[in-house]
Amino acid sequence: MTSILSEEQYKSCQLCPRRCGVDRTGGQVASGHSGFCRCTDHVMVARAALHQWEEPCLSGSPDGLPPAGEPVNSPAATGVSHGSGTVFFSGCTLGCCFCQNYPVSHERFGKEITIRQLADIFLRLQDEGAFNINLVTATQYLPSVVRALELVRNRLTIPVVYNCGGYERPETVRALTGYVDIWLPDLKYFDPTLASRYSQAANYFLYASRAIPQMIAQTGAPVMDENGLLRSGVIVRHMVLPGARTDSIRLLHWMKENLPVGQWLLSLMSQYTPAGDILHSSIRRFPELNRRITTFEYESVLNTAIDLGLTAGYMQQKSSAKEEYTPPFDLTGV
Ligand code: SF4
Repeated sequence: MTSILSEEQYKSCQLCPRRCGVDRTGGQVASGHSGFCRCTDHVMVARAALHQWEEPCLSGSPDGLPPAGEPVNSPAATGVSHGSGTVFFSGCTLGCCFCQNYPVSHERFGKEITIRQLADIFLRLQDEGAFNINLVTATQYLPSVVRALELVRNRLTIPVVYNCGGYERPETVRALTGYVDIWLPDLKYFDPTLASRYSQAANYFLYASRAIPQMIAQTGAPVMDENGLLRSGVIVRHMVLPGARTDSIRLLHWMKENLPVGQWLLSLMSQYTPAGDILHSSIRRFPELNRRITTFEYESVLNTAIDLGLTAGYMQQKSSAKEEYTPPFDLTGV
């Protein structure tokens, strides 16, 4: 195992691009001198359950195509109910003011569990019929997560999905070779000003633009099984934000010019909604985000993707801006 995934990391944490260098094993977190994510070395999880709202090739879809009029990610569209075995980790290395999982990511809602308990959760989700183990925002706990995966390596037969904000060190991605089968990164911003304003990460694109090609290099082209479920590969998610369509279009051009043809899938998302999140003080500072995207905004981005030939993957319909995509965070399955 490479050192970046060793438990020594917790003593001078460099797991994500912030490279805080703090000791997460005790004193500094307790005294308020914590890293950006404010997480200790004890894994915390907010929910571990089957989830039907991911892309059809993750949540289950007989043919990858939704019935007419259905959002591409809806259970009705997928037609299969087992779902993705999602494990929502508490805390986050980004600070997105519009996060749909705000209580989990910003307020670190969750329950502390041991590495053995985490491993047992993976096996239980598999027994419940999960099509994959979907690690949602796990970077801050990686030394523990890989140990849990090692404990079940001989019994886990479903793929492991790394569901992240795209803000990763390429070194961390490389170290996860052999642990992760499917990468599910966001690609949120091209512009550092936007990335700083909304996610407190001016260097977001600098890192995401290196991490994502590394993910693709590790998995190669997407591999589906006979049921249309993804066994390995990379899905790059991009959610269009209010007032930021030109940034979305710049990202699409970057993807076209820099990511290898046929080696990845695009998931273009229209589901941004401020509902509920507007109560959080951070989003109140950005009133321009207090609306859904317009049809014009989404269609201009969608049409750009089509014009560029970026059609391998999933494109949500504009009607997909629904809060039901966010599951209840009530410690289910933890
Ligand atoms: S995982 Fe947390 S403590 Fe470690 S470098 Fe990233 S933000 Fe800092």
